[in-house]
Amino acid sequence: MKNKLKTIFIYLIIIILVSGCVFKKAEKVPKGGITLYKVSGDNINTLSDYDVVGKDKEYQRDIIKHQEIWGLIKKIVVPEYRDKLKEMLIFNGEKENLDAYVVNISNDTKEWRIGVAINYAYNKDYSKSKRLEYNLVHEFAHIIALNSDQVDMDKKKQQCTSYYTLGVCTKTDSYMNMFYQEFWKDIAAEHKKLNRLDFYSMNKNKFVSEYASVSPVEDFAETFAFFITKDLPESNSLYVKDIKVLFFTKYPELMEMRDTIRNNLGY
Ligand SMILES: [Zn+2]
Repeated sequence: MKNKLKTIFIYLIIIILVSGCVFKKAEKVPKGGITLYKVSGDNINTLSDYDVVGKDKEYQRDIIKHQEIWGLIKKIVVPEYRDKLKEMLIFNGEKENLDAYVVNISNDTKEWRIGVAINYAYNKDYSKSKRLEYNLVHEFAHIIALNSDQVDMDKKKQQCTSYYTLGVCTKTDSYMNMFYQEFWKDIAAEHKKLNRLDFYSMNKNKFVSEYASVSPVEDFAETFAFFITKDLPESNSLYVKDIKVLFFTKYPELMEMRDTIRNNLGY
């Protein structure tokens, strides 16, 4: 059973669509895959150049852009977390309307792949809006929340007394469980009962974005992206969405991370 649970989790993929994230199975050859890189410290080395044609072939040859994208990822995935990021995929997101995602590629949530849609990364308005940076921070938040240091892979759902999601039991003192206990415990039943848009419209002041209302995991990632990329809210704000952003300020290591990433991105 334990192995079965682990297997289920291996195939869970966290994807951010142009309009949000979905969970789905990872394919052997990633859909839209152009080039897969192995991450070695500060550098990337080609693992696979997928068989592509036409525009995708041009994208494949444009390794300067691959390196630029990697450069941006390095500014966001700070050195303390770099060893958890094992692969970077350059892909074309047109077919699935995806712009970035992360997926756990080991059976213990220690190793992750980040995928970036090169066809969206260089869209003029897209880069102007800093959306790629925001999305990469959102994806990085999933690694922060669900990596092996934060979850207990040996606990089955029935044994898990903290927040259980995507086949893993979050540790009691993990960021994700603390976030869940503070902001989701009381609304989880309502969230389950209502359709998402009704739930969101009734709870607008609780979420930094509509997408954040999808699930606790997505709320965590969206709120973390706000925490990193936006000015901090007033400390006496009564809005739950602001109190959520301020949740991260309680952790000195996350405040330090915020300074580092903002400095790297020139904020
Ligand atoms: Zn997400």
